[in-house]
Amino acid sequence: MTKIWDVTSLNKETILECEEFADNDAFERIEAALVHVDAAAAILAQGGTVAFPTETVYGLGANALDAAAVAKIFKAKGRPSDNPIIVHIAKASDITQLTTKLTPTIVKLIDEFWPGPLTLVLPKTAAVPDIVTAGLQTVGIRMPDDAAALELIKRAGCPVAAPSANISGRPSPTRAKDVLSDLDGKVDVILMGGDCRVGIESTVLDMSGDVPTILRPGFITKEDIKELIGGRVEMDPGITDSLEAPKAPGMKYTHYAPKATMTVFEGRQEKVISEIARIKALNEANGIKVGVIIFEEKDFILAASEFFARLRDLDSEEVDLILAGAMSKNDSLGFAVMNRMMKAAGYNIVKV
Ligand code: AMP
Ligand code: MG
Repeated sequence: MTKIWDVTSLNKETILECEEFADNDAFERIEAALVHVDAAAAILAQGGTVAFPTETVYGLGANALDAAAVAKIFKAKGRPSDNPIIVHIAKASDITQLTTKLTPTIVKLIDEFWPGPLTLVLPKTAAVPDIVTAGLQTVGIRMPDDAAALELIKRAGCPVAAPSANISGRPSPTRAKDVLSDLDGKVDVILMGGDCRVGIESTVLDMSGDVPTILRPGFITKEDIKELIGGRVEMDPGITDSLEAPKAPGMKYTHYAPKATMTVFEGRQEKVISEIARIKALNEANGIKVGVIIFEEKDFILAASEFFARLRDLDSEEVDLILAGAMSKNDSLGFAVMNRMMKAAGYNIVKV
């Protein structure tokens, strides 16, 4: 049976109340959450699986140095074995057991962006089992910016391999209830915290080669990285391609997929809004249940934090059809949201 424990009070605001104002009530709430985190950490250390909040999306963790424990993650999620898992650490110095490549540029990135939504792909040490990296010689490493996640990893005393805490193919979970609906009964512990602040998965930056290359766009943008380290920063060509309709007809992915059919409308905002309204009315006249996802044109931060939750809410409402307005790809965060939106829609796009 899955143990479900509330750790909501383990957040920056409550910790601040406790430290700055010696607030006794805050202290007690934090202590109560830490009892749960301690128990969850012990389960991790013994080879169990624990879902936990991070600032990006909820993660499903296991001891990264224990191949049998990591295998439980793949089983619980139904995750294909060729998809590598990011390893999470609680202090930067823990990186040395996972990689030996630490150039001044890498240290600069760590100093600036950790804890935070940036995963660094680096050559792996022998300590990292093949199952974690899907047989690759590199490993993705990140330090999450979430009090519960950091305490959990610290107390487990091992690096924690953790992909998103959803059933493979479903939208990433950004709220405790999303984790419950996917993984209750399939994992040892679910730590229930608040909603994820960022809402999309970390930026993945490959630092294993000569040119820093973004493999997955996220909240930390190419410009952020370039501004810090200078020189060339590349974007993996696969990412740009992924925003276009697949070239081979009939090619469909099931990534982040809602249960409904989904179409993305791209064009001037007013035209998109009126076209979505028209298609919605047409379908509703035929008894089809329609859900709409439209964000304000420049509201990229909100779109990132809410996109996956909106998909899941529309699934709960059992809509048949989702009509979504595209975000601008010229903005780096908009681009990151579009990377998810296009996958969720199976590349179904209508230009208006
Ligand atoms: P998830 O944790 O479910 O968001 O997925 C982890 C993602 O991080 C993978 O699907 C890859 O895109 C990326 N990743 C993790 N490790 C590596 C690696 N060693 N090399 C390249 N990409 C990686
Ligand atoms: Mg995932």
